[in-house]
Amino acid sequence: MTKKRSAPRPSREPAPAAAQESSAAPVPELPVFRELSGARGVRAPLDTLLAGLSRVVPFERASFFFLRPGGGAGLQWAANFRRAPSDDEPEVGLSPRLVNWAMADARPKVAPPGSIGNDRRIYLFLPLWGLGEPLGLVIARTMLDAEGLDVAVESAVQGLAAWFGERVAYAVAYLGAEGERSALAGREAMASALLDSVSEGLVAVDEAGLVSFVNRNARIMLSLFDADYRGRDLVPLLPADVATAFAAVLAEARERGGAPARIVERSAGGADFPLEISATRVLPGKSGPAAGPAASTLLVLRNLSAGARLARLEEIDRLKTEFISTASHELRSPLATVREAVRLLSEGAAGKLSDEQRRLTDMVERNVDWLVRLINDLLDMSRLEAGRIHLDLAAVDLDGLAASVAGRFGVEAERRRLDLRVRLGAPGMRVRADPDRLEQILVNLLANAFKFTLQGFVQLATSTGPDWAEVAVSDSGVGIAADDLPLIFEKFEQVGRRQDLSRKGSGLGLAITRRLVELHGGTIRVASRPDEGSTFTVRLPLAPAAAPEGDGHG
Ligand code: ADP
Repeated sequence: MTKKRSAPRPSREPAPAAAQESSAAPVPELPVFRELSGARGVRAPLDTLLAGLSRVVPFERASFFFLRPGGGAGLQWAANFRRAPSDDEPEVGLSPRLVNWAMADARPKVAPPGSIGNDRRIYLFLPLWGLGEPLGLVIARTMLDAEGLDVAVESAVQGLAAWFGERVAYAVAYLGAEGERSALAGREAMASALLDSVSEGLVAVDEAGLVSFVNRNARIMLSLFDADYRGRDLVPLLPADVATAFAAVLAEARERGGAPARIVERSAGGADFPLEISATRVLPGKSGPAAGPAASTLLVLRNLSAGARLARLEEIDRLKTEFISTASHELRSPLATVREAVRLLSEGAAGKLSDEQRRLTDMVERNVDWLVRLINDLLDMSRLEAGRIHLDLAAVDLDGLAASVAGRFGVEAERRRLDLRVRLGAPGMRVRADPDRLEQILVNLLANAFKFTLQGFVQLATSTGPDWAEVAVSDSGVGIAADDLPLIFEKFEQVGRRQDLSRKGSGLGLAITRRLVELHGGTIRVASRPDEGSTFTVRLPLAPAAAPEGDGHG
C-alpha cells in the first residue's frame, strides 16, 4: 500500500471472491474519526465530497472507513451517511482481501453484486489517499447498474476523492500537532499548579516586556484579580504603589541579568505589608533546541511581614503535628500487643524463665514502657497543639487529689530511700479542673522530681490565695542551671545531667504540663538552683462557689 496515486483510469477488475467471507461483522468506531469529523477543516470538505458524489453517482448511503493506525489492511468504520431516512440494515462488513483490492490504487472501483456478504446491490469503493499515503475508504451503496462507472464519472469521483484525501491528511497532521499541544497544555497546567503552591509571588515577563505567567500569590500580592494581563505589559495594570518599583527592577534585570531587591509598602487583602521585588533573567538552556523558548525575566515577590513568615512557620508546624499524631496513633496498638506479650512471658505463661531470660524480658518491658510513654506524650502534644484536647471541668478537691497522687509514689520513694513529704495546706479547697488532666500534671511533676533526685526529699505541698490554689512539687535534686530554665518548658528540651536512666523521658513532659495548666487558665513557674533542688508551682483558679460538687478523686 505504498503505491502512489495513479492517473484516473476506469477499473473493471472483478472484486475478489474472498469478499464473500465477510459478513456483517461489527467494526468498532474509530475514535480518531469522531475527533476528525468535528475538527476544523474536515466537516466542510466532507460535505463537499458527499454533495459532489451524489451529483455524479446516485447513492443511498455511504460509509467511511479509515485505515487503522499502525498498518495492516484492517479498516475501521468511522461514519455513515444516508440519503434516505435510516434503514435497519447491518453495517457493511469488510474482509482484508476486499480492502486490499479496493486500496490497491487510488482509482474508484465498482464491486459487483455479492461482493459484500449476500448483498446483491452495487457498491462503489472510493479509496482515500492523502499526501501520498493511503488514508481510508468510502464505500457507497449506489443505484448504479453492474456495469460500473463511465470514464467521465470515474474521473470526477476520483478527483473529488483526491481532493478530499488531501484535506483529511492535513487535518490528521493538524490533529497530531493538536495532540502535542494538548499534552503540552497538560504539562503547563501541572507546572502552574506547582507554581501556585509556592509562597512567593512569581511573574514571568518575555523579551518584549509582556507577561507570560503570573502565579496565584503574585495575583494576590498585586491585586490582579480580574485584570486581563496575559500577553500585556503589566506595569500599567499594577497598583500605583508597586508599578514604579516593578518597572525599575524589570528594566535593571533585563539590562544586567539581575536586579537587587526593592521593597515597597503594599496594602492588599486588608493587610499592610512590605513587599520585596527581585528579578532574575531566565535564559534558554544551551542544550535545548535551536528554536527553544526565548529569554525571559522572572520577578519574585515576597511578603516580608512577620505575620506572613509566621503563617508559613505555623503551616509547617501544623503539618509536622499532623504527621506525629498519625504516626503515634498507628504505633499504639502494635506496641500494646508487644507489651502484653512480654508481660505474659515474664509472668512465666510460656514456661519458667531462666535468670538470663528474665533479665532480657525486664529490659524489653522497661523499653516498651518507655516507648508507650513517649508515644502517649507525642499524641498528647499533637492534640494539644491542634487544640483537640477538651477539658472536662469540675470542682476538684485539691488536697484530696494531691494526697492520692503522692500515695502512688510511696513505693518508689521507699525503693529510692527518698523522703516523700506531703504538706496539705488547702483543706476543702476546690479548683476548677479536669481531674484526669490535673492528675496527669501532678504525676509529670512528681515523676520528674524523682527522676532528678538522688538523695533527700521530694515534696508535694498545697496552699491557697484569695481566688486561687497552688500545688508545689519540690525536690532536693540536681537542680537546673539558670540558663536552662527558660528552655525546659519547650518541646524536646532535655537539659543538664540525668540521674535515673531507668525513667528515660521524652523531653515532652514539661511542655505538655505547661500547656495543660494554661488550658485550665492557670500558670506554672519554676525556681531552681543547681545541686540544691527545684520547685515547680502550679496555680489554678478556684471553682465557683455555686459550682456543683464533684471531685474526680476522693
Ligand atoms: P523529660 O522527659 O526529659 O523529663 P521534661 O519536659 O519533663 O522532659 O523535662 C525537661 C527537662 O527539664 C529535663 O530533661 C530536665 O533536664 C529538666 N527537669 C525537669 N524537671 C526537673 C527537676 N525536677 N529537676 C531537675 N531538672 C528537671
